[in-house]
Amino acid sequence: MPVRHIASPNVNPRPEQTPVRLIVLHNISLPPAQFGGGYIEQFFQNKLDANAHPYFQTIHELKVSAHLLILRTGEMIQFVSFNDRAWHAGRSSYLGVPECNDYSVGIELEGTDDQPFTEAQYTAVIAAILSIQQAYPHTRRHLAGHSDIAPGRKTDPGPYLDWQRIRRALADYYAGA
Ligand SMILES: [Zn+2]
Repeated sequence: MPVRHIASPNVNPRPEQTPVRLIVLHNISLPPAQFGGGYIEQFFQNKLDANAHPYFQTIHELKVSAHLLILRTGEMIQFVSFNDRAWHAGRSSYLGVPECNDYSVGIELEGTDDQPFTEAQYTAVIAAILSIQQAYPHTRRHLAGHSDIAPGRKTDPGPYLDWQRIRRALADYYAGA
């Protein structure tokens, strides 16, 4: 699973004694509903050019990141070490525990709430989840969408993400199929 590495400055240490125990899936596209262009990569590096698109003026000062970004081609880019805290979830809680960034891994899929993800993205995200679950066994039972941990505030990864397909692939892997 080849991964390109680009360092994001939007990172800090996880709190002590905080095992990684949740994987959060998101979607993002910049500008919205446009793919390619490298703007997400710039955004996560705080290098988004506010003049490149009107929408960017509303977001270019935000400081966010994710551990992984999976482009439409399936290419994977890692911005933050899984051991460190990325800034993807915002105000959030999972099973009553707030501040999901403290204990989660964030995976962004390049996409929108209203169109399907690509075959290459499913292949990549399943491989990524399995590899994270190997490294952080506490994540095996905890996979959520951003909308699950920030309901009312976030809608991604949206209704087109085929959770069943992902969960079945993971179950098949663990069943040795
Ligand atoms: Zn999100």
